[in-house]
Amino acid sequence: MALSGEEFDVIVVGAGIMGSSTAYQLAKRGQKTLLLEQFDFLHHRGSSHGESRIIRATYPEDYYFPMVIESYKLWEEAESQIGYKVYFKAEHLDMGDSHNKYIRGIIQTCHKYSVSHQILNRRQVAEKFSGRFDIPENWIAVFTEYGGVIKPTKAVSMFQALAFQRGAVLRDCMEVKDIKKDDGVKGGVWVHTSNGEKFWGKKCVVTVGAWTRKLIKKVNGVELPIQPLETMVCYWRIKEGNEGKYAIGGDFPTFTCHGELFIYGTPSLEYPGLIKVAVHGGYPCDEDKRSWGPGMGLGSLKETVEERLSGMVDSGAPVATQLCMYSMTPDEDFVIDFLGGEFGKDVVMGGGFSGHGFKMGPVVGRILADLVLTGETKGVELKHFRIQRFEENPQGNVKDF
Ligand SMILES: Cc1cc2nc3c(=O)[nH]c(=O)nc-3n(C[C@H](O)[C@H](O)[C@H](O)COP(=O)(O)OP(=O)(O)OC[C@H]3O[C@@H](n4cnc5c(N)ncnc54)[C@H](O)[C@@H]3O)c2cc1C
Repeated sequence: MALSGEEFDVIVVGAGIMGSSTAYQLAKRGQKTLLLEQFDFLHHRGSSHGESRIIRATYPEDYYFPMVIESYKLWEEAESQIGYKVYFKAEHLDMGDSHNKYIRGIIQTCHKYSVSHQILNRRQVAEKFSGRFDIPENWIAVFTEYGGVIKPTKAVSMFQALAFQRGAVLRDCMEVKDIKKDDGVKGGVWVHTSNGEKFWGKKCVVTVGAWTRKLIKKVNGVELPIQPLETMVCYWRIKEGNEGKYAIGGDFPTFTCHGELFIYGTPSLEYPGLIKVAVHGGYPCDEDKRSWGPGMGLGSLKETVEERLSGMVDSGAPVATQLCMYSMTPDEDFVIDFLGGEFGKDVVMGGGFSGHGFKMGPVVGRILADLVLTGETKGVELKHFRIQRFEENPQGNVKDF
């Protein structure tokens, strides 16, 4: 257990998936690492809790593809070190109007990286999935082998355990209220907690999810456009007799569906007989004063479940739900950068993962560790994730979908 005043090579603030995988990367590289979390470890008040997250490589933004491919490798590496599974293989299907720019972008990314994929029409979708999906005549579906499900709470716990095994110090119920540059000759930063303790770090990584805007504003006065959204995961009952057809490990894929809403779903895994189908997005919330739902109308989601899942799933109402938070940027791209200003390259932040970051937890941890230790990283085009993009354009990166 770290005592107030203790010194570290790197202090990581926030123990969701990003902070936990970063702490593991740092400890693995021999750094004396402290991981601080404001709530209990594995709490349900942020973004990284629950039972399933999709991993898919089909992005219209081609810069995410290499990150996902590296993550697949890093998930497997971490699993082999800990000795249990957090990743479950599945294939993946993206569905939408044949002119939908998101879908067209996915196809372009597949071409760019020579990813084997099939473009299916309505009849082919019905045949391939034995009637479990139905799309309108003017839609297409893109099928690839790059899908899968990750168990989030278990995965966060895995990285914390791996970090601990490699000597990291982990402390929860430690809210960081400020990070200050050391004024003397020592350099580095002082990390202050609301219970009056303080720790010195040569360097610091801030991965505080939906609390990013608040903490960064306090630390260096910069207002980042990262909006917390409350969102709801819904589980739906598979109609009797069909349960086995949707089980993980079979041929039912993870999927996204781009109609009126962006909807995603996973095979049956955590609750036998139920599948997860939910809306990508949510309603703005104050991360410290949550309304805890209900907030989201389910009308369009019910319609999608009924229409796209061919009536084999009971669309009457979800039988189980779970609330969670997104940290949304205007362009839905991540923010991975040095804090700059008086902190220069001593403080690095990773935030704004916009409802699609979990799959990339391992690669983000690798990148944040690279940046904080060496000031640079490889295998990722960081220009898309810079803070400065919001100064040039408040909406961030320009996209046409
Ligand atoms: C419902 C839902 C479904 C999703 N589905 C997918 C999916 O299918 N695929 C996918 O890739 N991604 C998905 N995501 C997104 C993914 O889960 C997030 O991008 C990811 O979990 C973000 O992790 P994080 O570490 O940045 O944030 P968090 O998990 O919120 O971690 C931040 C941590 O910092 C702590 N903290 C905050 N402030 C302080 C402070 N001052 N001092 C100390 N600690 C602090 C918080 O308590 C928290 O534990 C989904 C998200 C949700 C909510």
